[in-house]
Amino acid sequence: MLMEGFLQNEQKHMKALVYTSANKVTYRDEPSPEPARGEAKILIDAVGICGSDMHAYHGEDARRVPPLILGHEAAGIVVSGNQTGQRVVLNPLITCGTCKDCRDGRNNLCAERKLIGMNYPGAFAEYITIHEKNLIPMPEGMNPVHAALTEPAATSLHALHLAQRSLHRPISEGRALVIGGGSVGLLAALLLRSQGCLEILLCDTNPLRRETAIQIGCCNVFDPDQEPENINNSFELVIDAVGMETTRSMSIRAVRPGGVLMHIGLQHGSGDCDFRKITLSEITVIGTYTYTHRDLQAALQKLHSGTLGDLTWIEERPLAEGASAFSDLNGGRLAAPKIVLLPHV
Ligand SMILES: [Zn+2]
Ligand SMILES: [Zn+2]
Repeated sequence: MLMEGFLQNEQKHMKALVYTSANKVTYRDEPSPEPARGEAKILIDAVGICGSDMHAYHGEDARRVPPLILGHEAAGIVVSGNQTGQRVVLNPLITCGTCKDCRDGRNNLCAERKLIGMNYPGAFAEYITIHEKNLIPMPEGMNPVHAALTEPAATSLHALHLAQRSLHRPISEGRALVIGGGSVGLLAALLLRSQGCLEILLCDTNPLRRETAIQIGCCNVFDPDQEPENINNSFELVIDAVGMETTRSMSIRAVRPGGVLMHIGLQHGSGDCDFRKITLSEITVIGTYTYTHRDLQAALQKLHSGTLGDLTWIEERPLAEGASAFSDLNGGRLAAPKIVLLPHV
């Protein structure tokens, strides 16, 4: 219905949530984008708020310059060109496609890599335009709110693929610690469970986040301040889904000799690091950034198949109420590890 309305009555303007200055996002009219050659126009159904959007909101990301429409975790319907009517998830990474890394299928390492919601207008809007090669068809009948989780799920999946290559034995025989109960941390725990990991612990300092993780029930949950004895040199795999000096030092203390430390979080880049333990215990430290197109396709299938549970922990809000979602996230007032905004409700 919505799409027919659009086709009959093409709009020049749309509503969007625009990052206008530090700690401020404004819901307002913006020009509706027109697709260039090779691009499609997408009506956005559902779009998640990412930790990196929060980082930008705080004015801490020099790469995201206001005024800018943020948002890159999106699902929608194609409303222009030959794929019109197809439901899709967006691959938000715009890469050159011709460099050595792109040709090797490692687009996430492309030196020309750009991102919607950073270098281009993002998906906190009614519409977006993007190259047709960045569209991934959604499985028939899938809930777009679940599909909007594809990007963070692909981030976790990519990290676990890299970890698996460096682990001495399969993770199904070992223990894993996940630091951070946001969506990437939680999805990593869910993926680890689906891979049969023997024992999964997740820690977070936010009691609301801990409560949600406890309810999902895929792992043992603790507060690292209350139970520091759990950080004890005993995990084959440690995933830092926060990326601060404190969580990095926690990771190094937690990982067992010969283990793997997977660094995903992008909170703060510098700080002390115990390289002596890394050396003496032969720890493998791996940095991981985003995903390949293949990871996105695989993550979408996993979300659709139920491998990652019923996903009832996602909280939905209208895009028009996006500003309050940002301020609630900022205040640590939300139990949901993922807020998905809906532009057309
Ligand atoms: Zn994201
Ligand atoms: Zn490239």
